[in-house]
Amino acid sequence: MSLSEFDLIRRCFSHCGNGRSDVLLGVGDDAALLQPPPDMLLAVTQDTLVAGVHFPADPDPEALGHKSLAVNLSDLAAMGATPAWVTLGLTLPQPDLRWLDKFSVGLCALAVRHGVHLVGGDTTRGPLAISVTAVGFVPPGAGLRRGGARAGDLVCLTGTLGDAGLALRAPSQDQSADDRDYLRGRLQRPSPRVDAGMRLRPLASAAIDVSDGLAADLGHILDASGVGAVVELARIPCSEPVRRYLSRTGDWSLPLSSGDDYELCFTLPRERLSALDRLRAETDCGVTVIGSITEDPGLRLLDPDARTYRLEYPGYDHFGGTP
Ligand code: ADP
Ligand code: MG
Repeated sequence: MSLSEFDLIRRCFSHCGNGRSDVLLGVGDDAALLQPPPDMLLAVTQDTLVAGVHFPADPDPEALGHKSLAVNLSDLAAMGATPAWVTLGLTLPQPDLRWLDKFSVGLCALAVRHGVHLVGGDTTRGPLAISVTAVGFVPPGAGLRRGGARAGDLVCLTGTLGDAGLALRAPSQDQSADDRDYLRGRLQRPSPRVDAGMRLRPLASAAIDVSDGLAADLGHILDASGVGAVVELARIPCSEPVRRYLSRTGDWSLPLSSGDDYELCFTLPRERLSALDRLRAETDCGVTVIGSITEDPGLRLLDPDARTYRLEYPGYDHFGGTP
């Protein structure tokens, strides 16, 4: 990296996030030095966003900064982890100070909101791509895994599904300008459910974040747990614009298999049902029971008339269809 490019990085990223006392050395040396809390496990995750695959070729840089971090915090939330540190791998076609400034504003604002600090990274030249690694803490034995669901558990969701997917479809006449802003915000600036994830640690038997669509992601819980599930479509939480879309088209694939929602899908032992009220009161995202775990494998979807609904296309798979 040339000096001027390094100056850019220092300017944009050397004070990004919360000044944490566990960051003994952050951006600027050959590696960061970090002090993990005693008796905690580290939860480590990485997600990459590529221009033309995960976002349009010419994205809003501030929204992209937000989303690059948000998708990683969402993975930590799905583990019940408390986020702490992140690194940033940036591949840029050319150094562009105004673009980087906006990108860092989006990323750093979300970092501050969640008490995380950017401790390092790497910058290279090439087609635009962003790869973030996020590290969080979980007490031993308390991390939320995909494999813990048991027959009889309730299947639950935070927030609403289908908003990001609807934002990518052509706007319809029944959408107001406010609806379109709301949907675009849900696509471009998802809110990782970090707080809900941490509160679910003592409650949930399994959890995953919904990035590739409910059917695919709940499917991962079912596979890892060796169980099945019944989900009632009418109970899936949806925003008003998505509800109107559903009543106009009957197209349940929108909330079931369009990705990018970044809500948490989790399973809850039935005897803990009353804890959901507390969770709803303590978080602002909403929590809904949509079905239950069964011994029979597979995901069974029931339409509002209690008939089995068949989903053609379960969810996003980067390598789907390749031989
Ligand atoms: P080296 O040549 O030793 O690998 P670099 O010149 O790549 O170091 O990086 C110098 C410092 O800047 C390191 O502390 C690195 O973590 C940080 N850095 C580089 N790129 C980024 C970035 N995109 N975001 C945050 N920190 C970065
Ligand atoms: Mg070095």
